[in-house]
Amino acid sequence: MNDELSRITEDILEKIRKSDSLEKLNEIRVEFLGKKGRITSVMKNMKDLAPEERPKFGQLVNDMRQKAEAALEEAKARMTAAAREAKLAAEEIDVTLPAKKRAVGHGHPNQIALDEVERIFVGMGYEVVEGPEVEYQEYNFTKLNIPEGHPARDEQDTFYINDEILLRSQTSPVQARVMEQGKLPIRMIAPGRVFRSDNIDATHSPSFHQIEGLVVDKHITMTDLKGTLDQFAKELFGENTKTRFRPHHFPFTEPSAEVDVSCFKCGGKGCRFCKNEGWIEILGCGMVHPHVLEMCGIDPEKYTGFAFGVGLERIAILKYEIDDMRLLYENDQRFLDQF
Ligand SMILES: [Zn+2]
Repeated sequence: MNDELSRITEDILEKIRKSDSLEKLNEIRVEFLGKKGRITSVMKNMKDLAPEERPKFGQLVNDMRQKAEAALEEAKARMTAAAREAKLAAEEIDVTLPAKKRAVGHGHPNQIALDEVERIFVGMGYEVVEGPEVEYQEYNFTKLNIPEGHPARDEQDTFYINDEILLRSQTSPVQARVMEQGKLPIRMIAPGRVFRSDNIDATHSPSFHQIEGLVVDKHITMTDLKGTLDQFAKELFGENTKTRFRPHHFPFTEPSAEVDVSCFKCGGKGCRFCKNEGWIEILGCGMVHPHVLEMCGIDPEKYTGFAFGVGLERIAILKYEIDDMRLLYENDQRFLDQF
């Protein structure tokens, strides 16, 4: 039996020496020291020995067990250390390598222009309001003084869902919706997407964005309108910008005007950018038509107001000198990265 014990001892030490992973060490532990392991079975044979030999044999088994345990622990420590070394070597950082560049996103030129316009008007005490893109024709037309039969209602003007519902052709219906709520005074801008059944070219798109403005209060006059838009133009295009109001016609304002700003490239002298005009058209505006106030439940004898509408793309195109509106919708990274 002593011989067998020596054999087992040699066997286990040999196996431990040869093993190259923690899994194998574990297998060895089970094979020799486990409940059904070889050492355990040798212990079971102890009953065949003479009683006086048993303590000595037990001592031998214990020594051998301790030897095996020690060898296992030593092998385990060696492997763990080697694994840590390998891991550290693999994770070593070469500080001389150039850093990875992280692409950071940024605003679309439309969004940058909108943020700028909102900043200017919020600074003047305006509220930013939104309205539905799918709208009743009543809000898009009737309540804005565009009765049935008016040429602006032409089927070509927008996309109709049915006779009553359409994709709004302007942000102006938000005016009617806010006025109807009856909370006065009103100082608001309403940015949003609008639709026209236009073909796509350098200056047209079936979907684009407008920013509507509306002020209703007592004693609001054309002077307030002119002062407000003049200040807006100066903040948007520069302190030296001048404005020019030209009489125009819109159904829901009376009187109405189109507003030009002095060319911020040539200062009004005339250049290629302003087509030698010295002026660039930026928006339409006017005093809210008394009939519109009345239809929305506001007494035109007590209250007056002004409204304006500006194309967001128009501002982005002017501010960033973009020569084709389609660039704003194509999401070409090479174009967008410039802003
Ligand atoms: Zn110019």
